[in-house]
Amino acid sequence: MKIHGLQKMTLLDYPSKIAATVFLGGCDFKCPFCHNFEIVDGSMAPIMDDTELFSFLQKRKGLLDGVVITGGEPCIYSDLPTLISKIRDMGFLVKLDTNGNHPEVVETLLADKAIDYIAMDIKNSPAKYSMTIGLNNINLDNISKSISLIMNSGVPYEFRTTVVHEYHEASDFEEIGKWIEGAAAYYLQQFTVRDTVPDKRLTAPTESDMMLYLKTVQKYVPKAEIRGL
Ligand code: SF4
Repeated sequence: MKIHGLQKMTLLDYPSKIAATVFLGGCDFKCPFCHNFEIVDGSMAPIMDDTELFSFLQKRKGLLDGVVITGGEPCIYSDLPTLISKIRDMGFLVKLDTNGNHPEVVETLLADKAIDYIAMDIKNSPAKYSMTIGLNNINLDNISKSISLIMNSGVPYEFRTTVVHEYHEASDFEEIGKWIEGAAAYYLQQFTVRDTVPDKRLTAPTESDMMLYLKTVQKYVPKAEIRGL
């Protein structure tokens, strides 16, 4: 397993936990607003392998509660379950971040209770999904299946959407709300402009737009919140 990034400690990535965040390169989506695109397109080399990661974690026992596995898209790796299992065997909780396009992987991990928390991106309303992820096509059945698996798993979870001015409007949050109606947690995250995103013309929504979108989606997901404003 090639590790493309490691944040040695974060209080933000795993709710209520002190965690390290492991970034795995590669992704099957090409989101124009991706903040980690240098590890998605392969332009950044791996920084360590899993042996070095385990060595780092060994020294962090007792200091960290958990490990966040993010990307890129971790579920594209067939040895992901092995990586997760080894990290948990060391005594760490594991949170998985996913784009939801691999329900078969999500299903196995959830059924085996192999993860302690899962966060899935909801990129946009169904009609705008493929344009929002930078692809011509997306099998929305994968996304719907992942949503259903996660909501019915009993494993703590959240859904979240990075909100981009050019891609989202209030009607999208009507559709997203219906898609994840009754979810235990849903976060709207305001896009922040960075030089490293693929489409540098993209802009952040205003705070008043964020509030409008929150109110819209709360009709279906009362526990929705804005994260980071
Ligand atoms: S799914 Fe995530 S990692 Fe993949 S391109 Fe989109 S934002 Fe980047």
